[in-house]
Amino acid sequence: MTFLNMAFTFLDLKSHLSTIHDLNKVSWVLNWDQRTMMPAKGAPVRAEQLATLQRVAHEKFTADETGRMLEDLRAYEASQPYDSDEASLIRVARQDYDKARRVPSDLVAEMRRATSLASTAWAEARKKSDFALFLPHLEKVVELKHRYIECFDKTDTPYDVLLDDYEPGMKTAEVKAVFDELKQDLVPLIAAIANSKREIDTACLRGHFPADQQRAFCIKVIEHFGFNADSWRLDPTVHPFASNSCTSDIRLTTRYHEDDFATGLFGSMHECGHGLYENGVSPALERTPLCRGTSLGIHESQSRLWENLVGRSRPFWKFFYPQLQAAFPAQFGNVAAETFYAAINKVQPSLIRVEADEATYNLHIILRFELEQEIIAGQIALKDVPEAWNARMKAYLGVDVPNDAQGVLQDIHWSSGLFGYFPTYSLGNIVSCQIWEKVQAALPNLSEQFERGEFMPLREWLRDHMHCHGRKFTPPELLHRLVGGPINVKPYVQYLQGKYGELYGL
Ligand code: ZN
Repeated sequence: MTFLNMAFTFLDLKSHLSTIHDLNKVSWVLNWDQRTMMPAKGAPVRAEQLATLQRVAHEKFTADETGRMLEDLRAYEASQPYDSDEASLIRVARQDYDKARRVPSDLVAEMRRATSLASTAWAEARKKSDFALFLPHLEKVVELKHRYIECFDKTDTPYDVLLDDYEPGMKTAEVKAVFDELKQDLVPLIAAIANSKREIDTACLRGHFPADQQRAFCIKVIEHFGFNADSWRLDPTVHPFASNSCTSDIRLTTRYHEDDFATGLFGSMHECGHGLYENGVSPALERTPLCRGTSLGIHESQSRLWENLVGRSRPFWKFFYPQLQAAFPAQFGNVAAETFYAAINKVQPSLIRVEADEATYNLHIILRFELEQEIIAGQIALKDVPEAWNARMKAYLGVDVPNDAQGVLQDIHWSSGLFGYFPTYSLGNIVSCQIWEKVQAALPNLSEQFERGEFMPLREWLRDHMHCHGRKFTPPELLHRLVGGPINVKPYVQYLQGKYGELYGL
């Protein structure tokens, strides 16, 4: 094949992949709609619509034609620089193709249908705090996950197959090693905090906070991060998430508790971090499979960075606290900034993962990571999962779970078929601090900028060094480019020890 022919074949491949990408993005929008706008009775037909889209996209992508083009383009790929848009697109599409070819379209459609129905059933079960309503759906989802695992070559553990969908290339054993190291430092830190004489009062965070006023404040904050009304939305939902249809159509969601101020705001900042990553992908990669974050762990490093490293810091609140006091004068008018700062950073073992503090959060993840492996290995009957959950919450966090809504039913993931997803949250925490070290070295005036309400230099640094690449690089490749090494728990542990050592006088 001549170079010119290859260049034409590349354009054909790109156009083919764009069509498939469009179908996938339309399902993302339908999924967003289902979780924010759709009347509940739309659920059964919506499940069929999503299954249809998924099937068509999967059939088109796994067609022999895709494979032929990818084969024909091997020489073209080799002729282009590794990090070029062209070579990267071919390389990533081939990896996706090899994986997708193993999974029959029927199974893909069935998973989409089953998880769509399961998500609706989960929301109902959670509302009624009744695990039995969700159990048959969970059984179906787990059965389909087993069929999915069987599509792939045998791995060290079946969980490897699931993990690979969210953190490509990472093995269960590697995650376990990272978590074991994290636990070693985290457990004594949490114990030292529990034994600290310093009492932190969080009374100021409880009161009455009308949802619309919370929303106005959330918007004000995330506007400073990069939210603009022309290409972003923020809507309430049951379980917050971020989604997008393209780099200039970012859909954030959050949930407001009118008796608790923190959930809505920190949730908004978290999802905004995800949105900024998608928003920052180079427009040249639009409508291609490269147009998204490279893995969920790397994605989570961004959401946690904005939520915690920025949003729970003193410089951030130096700028925003007077505005918060003005927005909720009865609540915060007489509360000192330092009291507020301590309140939003209090470490307290609790029931709900997404509302957990930075230190105990990871124990929620380790619990799920272990339980999921047992579920997938068939070591635990699904009907016994709530009991196992509650026992482990007691053992790891010392809390009693009063009901399933605040226990095993709190997260949407299993209903969505997202087994293997949870570990990426803690990986994200760890990576966020590795990146943060680099950011601080590159932008020495970061704190002063935050104090003045300037967050653009941070956003631009992340965009230029990281977001723009989309999926061009694997997570380890991107991390090497950013921090010069592999995943490393030390910066995260040092951050936690420093922050809480100071706060609790350890
Ligand atoms: Zn997240």
